[in-house]
Amino acid sequence: MHSSTLKLAQELINIPSISPNDLGCQDILIQRLLRCGFTVELINLKDTKNFWAWKGVGGKTLSFAGHTDVVPAGSIKKWNFPPFCATIKDGFLFGRGAADMKGALSAMVVAVEKFLIKKPIYSGRISFLITSDEESSGKYGTKHVVSVLKNRKELIDYCIIGEPTSEYVLGDCIKNGRRGSMSAKLTIYGVQGHIAYPHLAINPIHQSLPFLSELSKLSLDHGNSFFLPSQIQISNIQISKKYSSNMIPGSLNIEFNIRFNGILIDQKIQEIILELLKKYLLNYSIKWTIHAQPFYSNTNFLSKIVSESIFFNNNIIPNVNTSGGTSDGRFICNIANEIIELGLENCTIHKINECISIKNLHLLQKIYERILDNIFR
Ligand SMILES: [Zn+2]
Repeated sequence: MHSSTLKLAQELINIPSISPNDLGCQDILIQRLLRCGFTVELINLKDTKNFWAWKGVGGKTLSFAGHTDVVPAGSIKKWNFPPFCATIKDGFLFGRGAADMKGALSAMVVAVEKFLIKKPIYSGRISFLITSDEESSGKYGTKHVVSVLKNRKELIDYCIIGEPTSEYVLGDCIKNGRRGSMSAKLTIYGVQGHIAYPHLAINPIHQSLPFLSELSKLSLDHGNSFFLPSQIQISNIQISKKYSSNMIPGSLNIEFNIRFNGILIDQKIQEIILELLKKYLLNYSIKWTIHAQPFYSNTNFLSKIVSESIFFNNNIIPNVNTSGGTSDGRFICNIANEIIELGLENCTIHKINECISIKNLHLLQKIYERILDNIFR
């Protein structure tokens, strides 16, 4: 079956739009939207392509949000099919971006096209907020578009982000928030020396172990009904290459990441960890990076609409949660009342042989269409 959604998804996958390069993906979407009567505004900045498109007046605004960029393919030799040549095999569509998130973009556009054929006149506004930089820095993408829209007091009532949220069955999981992310580069200083004369040196590895043990088990909070507890993961521990096996190194470098839920703000978490460093009398330097703040969207109305649309098409009631990595929802929440992320299966995202079930692609198109039907009844 070569539906309009499948064809559009293939067309997009065939373009190697490695973040933040769009390479014409957005032109394809824009042409489709212009044909439907949308007004399209380009909000490009530096290396990033963004657009905001809308159609309709009055009533509520439903916005579809997403990104045309993808992560690199990784080792191309390991792919069963060329990553930027959309390939159908056994009911699956293979290619970089199939799940994250060119499939969902295609489903959104086709859902809107079909809705407009059924209902050319409706009260309200349908809009699209699309960027080509979600996967890399994100500096000039959705963040920038949201600041432009916010300046002119643009407001989104309901926003659907097409990130791949499904786990086992299409629509089994949707998200109405995400945890924040911050990381630290920590250096523990000792005194370099001969490994046979430890009394003349201070071993930063030995010094750090009790601290690292407590850090790895540190309970920052217990989570709440919206969020899992905040979590610390140590990602890297190393000494400089300039030491040999008969030396006690002079310093130890440690990296860790914290996914935090906002029960404690980033500053408070940093204070707790600095206290811990003090407790173990460590000589250190630390550099923090805040990658994303947590967000939570109160989605009373939209979750009902989305859940009904999923149940109607796929006979499952979704679990609404805030797990997983960060998303552009953290920017959109500045101008949107209710945000739900709903997309394809996420089991192969960013992996070799990224793929989606073609049946799911069609189902997602139908679910998006039903959301439109329900909102603009
Ligand atoms: Zn994505």
